[in-house]
Amino acid sequence: MSKQRILIKYGGNAMINPQLQQEIAVQIFKLQEAGFEVIMVHGGGPFINKALEKAAIKSEFVDGLRVTEAIAFAEIQKALIGEVNADLVSKLNQNRLKAIGLSGKDAGMVQAKKYQHRSADGSIVDLGLVGEITKIDDSLINLLCEAGYVPVVACVADGTDGTSYNINADTFAGKLASAVKADQLIVLTDVDGLFLNYPDPASIIRKLNEDAVKAHLGTTIQGGMIPKIQSCVQALKEGVKKAIILNGTKPEQIANYVIENKEIGTTLTL
Ligand code: ADP
Ligand code: MG
Repeated sequence: MSKQRILIKYGGNAMINPQLQQEIAVQIFKLQEAGFEVIMVHGGGPFINKALEKAAIKSEFVDGLRVTEAIAFAEIQKALIGEVNADLVSKLNQNRLKAIGLSGKDAGMVQAKKYQHRSADGSIVDLGLVGEITKIDDSLINLLCEAGYVPVVACVADGTDGTSYNINADTFAGKLASAVKADQLIVLTDVDGLFLNYPDPASIIRKLNEDAVKAHLGTTIQGGMIPKIQSCVQALKEGVKKAIILNGTKPEQIANYVIENKEIGTTLTL
């Protein structure tokens, strides 16, 4: 039987100190030792914010999605690939893994087109170079996973017209998870899960099905939680068996969940 595959989305807000990244690396090593193949998709929010600030470009979000003008895209790509991805790969490899840095662009793995965002009131909002995935070729990831590598993927991709796009990392992770037939999608952020009364951690919602998601969208589910929850549900619809939001600032939660089956985080179901 082939190995179980876990796609981990590592949020920028949970990678703010090198110690945390190091501990995440240890957890991924544990997963590999336990017989899982691991693929990582990362964000880079705080790093992007800093890069944009330095370039005197304002950071703006609509429904949890980053508005991306062309000048902003150049900075985002530099931060994601040149900084976050490169540093993550170093950290993982220092911890006995064989991590390989990629973005959706490599070998044309992920193809994108301009994303048309519709806000809650139905109007179209122009987010600039924010992309939507149109096609994923799973062959590169399969090749790497089967050979024991850990692909670490930055969420940018090209359109067929040669335009490069910034894709929300949660959305990218969900789509990649289903395309590579991952068994599990783990979304690591900087909170324990979805809170009914944010920011009260005691109000964590342990299980959320699709109907509950619809009911909570725009009220409980706000900002950065919107693409996270939506991409988990989408991934489940596309065949991923398990999807959960965990706290990446508590890296031990990864093994607690996958190996020890502890009841933590917010689990999404259909
Ligand atoms: P990431 O880098 O992991 O993508 P985001 O900032 O995009 O992080 O999303 C996580 C954030 O979502 C949390 O830090 C929190 O501020 C926000 N959030 C919004 N609504 C909720 C909620 N109901 N429960 C928990 N977090 C929430
Ligand atoms: Mg986010």
